[in-house]
Amino acid sequence: LATESISCLDEAASTEHLPLLAVAGAATQVPLVDGTSRTYANLDYAASAPALERVATRVAEVLPLYASVHRGAGYLSQVSTALYEASRQAVARFVGAREDDVTIITRNTTDSLNLLAGVVPAAPDGTPGRVLVLDVEHHANLLPWTHGLGLDATVLAIADTVAGTLDAIAVELAARPYALVTVTGASNVTGEALPIGDVVRIAHAAGARVAVDGAQLIPHRRFSLEDSGVDYLAFSGHKAYAPFGAGVLVGRRDWLDVGTPYLAGGGAVRDVRTDRTLWQPAPARHEAGSPNVIGAVALAEACDALAALPDGALAAHEEVLRARLVEGLETLDGVEVVRIWPDSHDPVGVVTFTVAGHDPGLVAAFLAAEYGIGVRDGRFCAHPLLSRLGASSGAIRASVGVGTPGEAVDRLIAGLAAYLKAGP
Ligand code: PLP
Repeated sequence: LATESISCLDEAASTEHLPLLAVAGAATQVPLVDGTSRTYANLDYAASAPALERVATRVAEVLPLYASVHRGAGYLSQVSTALYEASRQAVARFVGAREDDVTIITRNTTDSLNLLAGVVPAAPDGTPGRVLVLDVEHHANLLPWTHGLGLDATVLAIADTVAGTLDAIAVELAARPYALVTVTGASNVTGEALPIGDVVRIAHAAGARVAVDGAQLIPHRRFSLEDSGVDYLAFSGHKAYAPFGAGVLVGRRDWLDVGTPYLAGGGAVRDVRTDRTLWQPAPARHEAGSPNVIGAVALAEACDALAALPDGALAAHEEVLRARLVEGLETLDGVEVVRIWPDSHDPVGVVTFTVAGHDPGLVAAFLAAEYGIGVRDGRFCAHPLLSRLGASSGAIRASVGVGTPGEAVDRLIAGLAAYLKAGP
């Protein structure tokens, strides 16, 4: 494969809907089954979004300054430490962190939510901390609460409507005290979410905190911890236009300052003797080991780039693509776009559909081999949700982002039409 980074957006320039930002690798040519090649149509942003060109440039700039952070008196150690701490601050700014919030650099959303699960305090009577989670979540926002960390998790079945689901949450929170309600900011299957403001209002009124799995929200929409009242936010760099390996957990300091350190090791401690250990407060408490400085710098650069977009530009770009995608899919016989709730609003650019009578894996393989399109097939690490949607044997997901041209969406619709015409 030719994987050179683009400096022009040739193919996109011929369509009426251009990418919002330049992404690395946008000119990648992929081989087709007929021996020709074609520019890759990446409709798999929800799995991992390509890095912004600006992020790739920044990584190349800081790579020569690579040194171990904290406690090093040498020049490069000081530079690296400054870069790492400035990145932490940039990410905190980007998500509207409150003054006393803590920003912990993790590996990804999964890491962040496992970390948070480890610091949820026990109830005043000593029983395990109680956590409310919905049955529509990605496994990363389901399994940390239900498995292994000694929490008392309730997996609440959603109702058929958003309004009914909010009511069900309120009823459950009134029935017994909860420490935390954790919800997705945008489903990785349908792009939908509950209105976060309502979840916060209901949870806070019942004395529970709110965590948001922002893996699919943060790359697609503006978000502020302070304005929303959300207590904790987790997201991944690799879905937000930075490379793999860095994510964050941002939120209220108190639980994080005293909770069990996520990893035991150097950097997380103030003093160690053979008979006792004194731990640091957060964030150091949860960042034992040599941190991912370059990953944090890349993530901060992506956050700065998204923050620099004009208000509404990100949502408007995706809305056009999403509408084009859904409208196109709905013209095809046997293709059905799945949704969680009929009354949800403002889904992000993630669309899942089924093709009646056809194996999702075969359809996805056809689109890749014949049209150079990358979509995802399967159950998207959300098995309970796929069952709920009547797609327990899998579906196909197309997802867009800042680097997606309208042409990629049009190509998908053309490819699917050709697949259906060719017959089983
Ligand atoms: N939450 C959602 C909604 C996701 O889409 C994903 C990844 O697909 C995750 C959590 C887990 O993200 P990561 O694999 O980066 O930890």
